[in-house]
Amino acid sequence: MKLSVKIRLFSSLFMLVLILLVNTSIYYLFHTISLDRELEDLSTQTNEMVETLNNNPNTSTSDMLEAFLPPEGLIRVIREDGSYVAQMMKADYTALPSNYVTSETRSIIQMNDQPDFATVAKPIIWENGNVVTIQVYKHLTGHSSTMETLFYVLVVASLIMLIPTIIAGFFLSRFITRPVQELTAAMKENTTYGNWKKISETDQSKDELYEMKVTFNRMIDHLRENFEKQEMFVSDASHELKTPISIVKSYSQFMKRRGADNSELLQESTEAIESQADRMQKLVEQMLLLAKNKDREVYEPFDIVELCRSTAETFKGAYDRDISFSTTADILQVNGSYDQLQQVVYILMDNAVKYSRGAVKISVRQDTQCIKVNVQDNGPGIPEAEQEKIFDRFYRIDKSRNRETGGTGLGLSIARAITEAHDGTLTVSSTAGGSTFKLQLPDSQKG
Ligand code: ADP
Repeated sequence: MKLSVKIRLFSSLFMLVLILLVNTSIYYLFHTISLDRELEDLSTQTNEMVETLNNNPNTSTSDMLEAFLPPEGLIRVIREDGSYVAQMMKADYTALPSNYVTSETRSIIQMNDQPDFATVAKPIIWENGNVVTIQVYKHLTGHSSTMETLFYVLVVASLIMLIPTIIAGFFLSRFITRPVQELTAAMKENTTYGNWKKISETDQSKDELYEMKVTFNRMIDHLRENFEKQEMFVSDASHELKTPISIVKSYSQFMKRRGADNSELLQESTEAIESQADRMQKLVEQMLLLAKNKDREVYEPFDIVELCRSTAETFKGAYDRDISFSTTADILQVNGSYDQLQQVVYILMDNAVKYSRGAVKISVRQDTQCIKVNVQDNGPGIPEAEQEKIFDRFYRIDKSRNRETGGTGLGLSIARAITEAHDGTLTVSSTAGGSTFKLQLPDSQKG
């Protein structure tokens, strides 16, 4: 069943039940009050009659009873043995039960198809000194017709009240289901045609449905962004892998044709194949790393001074270069993944060593709200126009020169992704006399 039908059905049924409940209560309340009033009136009339009888002993009893006989009713004077002293009636009401009572009783009697009768019976002392019962019946035709009129009035009122409920249910269902329908249509279109369709956010109400639309649109933006990034990454990666693969292929074909009788060529080819295989391995490793960096590791505080000092030591040991380390404090805490941030410093140091021939300096410094790590070299520098581009995936300034240095163009984009995941920044300032890569991280003790 459609949501709109459910809403309409529910609101109409709910209102119908409510109206029925209220109107039934009104009907029965009115019925009870009105019957009580009839009995009360009849009792008063009976008392008046008894008083008149007592005060006028000389007047004919039948005349008196006649005078007090209700328009459609019956008066009986009943002896203890059930026989009648007198009986007056306007129509044939002989079937109405007679009761001898010792105290006043009031009741409503129902006769088959006829409207109800109200009856009051009370004991009185009759002329001869005997105790008899005087019983008065009154036919409730007026009450029955009033109740019938009330019934029709309430039925019509219920129907009139239901009409606005049905109309309100219709508008309510439209109000709720329209954004849901829009959302479903957009999702269907997106899945069928591979589109990135969004839905309009023009509502002024800023309610939950508006929130749902905004969230959906944000999700579409996010998915689109990720999809485009992924697509770009796959095309860049396949493009980058194509070159070493074609080099390997051409060298192996070369070896197959002429390698057997030319040892120099064999040597050159195997070396080229090996170096290309190394390059592909590095490329694949870094691509996997880039994909892995999306997962946030468990972050905990650690000393960045120790990290930079030990990295400087490792590089000093591995390369015969002038690598110096300086710091403004013995211990500086940052919050994050030690392994990931070590990788950032390794990438910066590796580049500094690769792209310069002179001294490399690594320094750690505490600033007002952050900790700064600078890696400085005196290499050829990076032209200003390229300074942002080097952080893009696979971007290398001078491809032929970089091929000699075995670069993949992925290092700095990995370093920046890790830094941003740590709420930090990675920038470069460079002149012809050298480059300084500046890593800035939040100070865990000041955060
Ligand atoms: P890779 O070093 O593997 O090529 P990176 O992303 O680490 O990839 O660096 C991108 C490019 O930025 C490098 O190819 C190089 O041209 C340039 N670059 C990086 N660091 C330096 C540096 N310290 N000095 C000069 N150029 C640099």
